[in-house]
Amino acid sequence: MNKYTPIIGLEVHVELKTESKMFCRCSADYFGKEPNTHTCPVCLGLPGALPVPNKTAIEWCVKIALALNCKINEFSKFDRKNYFYPDLAKGYQISQYDLPFGYDGITELKSGKKMRIRRVHMEEDTGKLTHENGASLVDFNRSGLPLVEIVTEPDFHDAEDVKEYLQNLQQIVRYLDVSNADMEKGDMRLEPNISLALTTTLQDGTQEIIPVELLPNYKVEVKNINSFKFVEKAINYEVKRQTELLDKGERPAQETRGWDSVKQRTFSQRSKEDAQEYRYFPEPDIPPITHTKEQISSILKEVPELPAKKIARFEKEYGISFTDAEILSREKLLADYFEKVTSLRDHEVAKQSQQTPQAIAKWIINKKVDYATVTPEVLLKHMAAAKQTVAIDEQEFDRIAEEVFSENPQAVAACKSGKDSVIMFLVGQFMKKIGKKVDAQLVRKKLQEKL
Ligand SMILES: [Zn+2]
Repeated sequence: MNKYTPIIGLEVHVELKTESKMFCRCSADYFGKEPNTHTCPVCLGLPGALPVPNKTAIEWCVKIALALNCKINEFSKFDRKNYFYPDLAKGYQISQYDLPFGYDGITELKSGKKMRIRRVHMEEDTGKLTHENGASLVDFNRSGLPLVEIVTEPDFHDAEDVKEYLQNLQQIVRYLDVSNADMEKGDMRLEPNISLALTTTLQDGTQEIIPVELLPNYKVEVKNINSFKFVEKAINYEVKRQTELLDKGERPAQETRGWDSVKQRTFSQRSKEDAQEYRYFPEPDIPPITHTKEQISSILKEVPELPAKKIARFEKEYGISFTDAEILSREKLLADYFEKVTSLRDHEVAKQSQQTPQAIAKWIINKKVDYATVTPEVLLKHMAAAKQTVAIDEQEFDRIAEEVFSENPQAVAACKSGKDSVIMFLVGQFMKKIGKKVDAQLVRKKLQEKL
């Protein structure tokens, strides 16, 4: 058993894909746009400009909270988080302090482990700084974008569980259709906090528990990571680094660190000495937000069946394997597509070929079917056609291939010189000669090999 148990909590920022920003009418579609073209007095923090909250963004935040089994505060409000940084035009960020929209949620991992969600709150994004040739440039296009922060309790003990939770969270916000959760575009930013506690065991030796008095008296936060893989690496790096310090009898410093993806290590950014004192106070320009029980239950009705439930239902209802159900449920549209195809089983084509849900699942997965272009009807036709083709005898194939080649020397020459499109002409000639239904793709492959 390891001497130390990692205690890990997570803060995840998810950028919502609303049309406009959080407190103004600027377009939120800012990615890749000319700097400072999506701005107005509100998101530039000019004196006298008044924020008006985005109703859709608030509903989506509540939706995320409900999907994570949170309780919803019927009375909530926005607060000012005061700090000074050049990407923050107003000198404060509008966020939520003591009354977040969602709190006390729970989410389950495949292993059955339950991870507690501390809070789900709404805030606004900051501008973006870039540093070029000794100068710092600021772009306020991102300033004021709706951002949902999801905070867990420190319930994680290893990087694998963290990764699974993050992947689940990404799937959930995509299922809810509230964020693209595109890591590369910064739609999802990850901040693990890591410390080590001395490992203790219950008397029966079965379960590790960390008594409150033994929780570590320090916490290391790693900020703004934009890939699941880097989170995993940053956690493993921190566990190693902190273990070495503790073994030397030193207490790791309470600090904020960054992740250097080139050097594959974390580095110190800010120590406790200059830790921020945010002086939160209620945002005076925005009245408190209330949600009635009826409003909350109508938002809950919009939460679709989420991946974990869908996987279990697919296994039970269609008799497909867990692995297949999991692959099909990765994207809601793909899962919907599978069900549409399956529901067409009574369709004439499907009946003829007697497709089972298992066969349909395998076909979609193995052939990487593009649900956006292949309609369920066409897919069933493809499956039926594949079933009806007959095998080709090797000798028969060789004989007919030779005939086709000798009768079409020009086409053969064109193929050999790299004109791939001509192969389909030869396949056509072959099909005519053989006079029975064979797999055209197979014929194509074999002819190409022969050439
Ligand atoms: Zn604006």
